[in-house]
Amino acid sequence: MSIHILRVLGIRSKTPGVLAIAEGHMVRWDPRRGGWDCQCLTPADEYECEHIEAVRNLIDQRVTEPVKARTA
Ligand SMILES: [Zn+2]
Repeated sequence: MSIHILRVLGIRSKTPGVLAIAEGHMVRWDPRRGGWDCQCLTPADEYECEHIEAVRNLIDQRVTEPVKARTA
């Protein structure tokens, strides 16, 4: 799958978000809008599409989830 990552700002950023183009579909992650979304999904779709899955697999988990504090 052809994927272009345009923007990656982690959860600790003031304006966190991920923006990518996967096979021509815009995929975004915006925690203030409920997480992942893809252009190919209609509002009725409950499930994620292959584009979201592919982009998410490229993004480090630390981008979208707060790093847990280390226990000493
Ligand atoms: Zn999609």
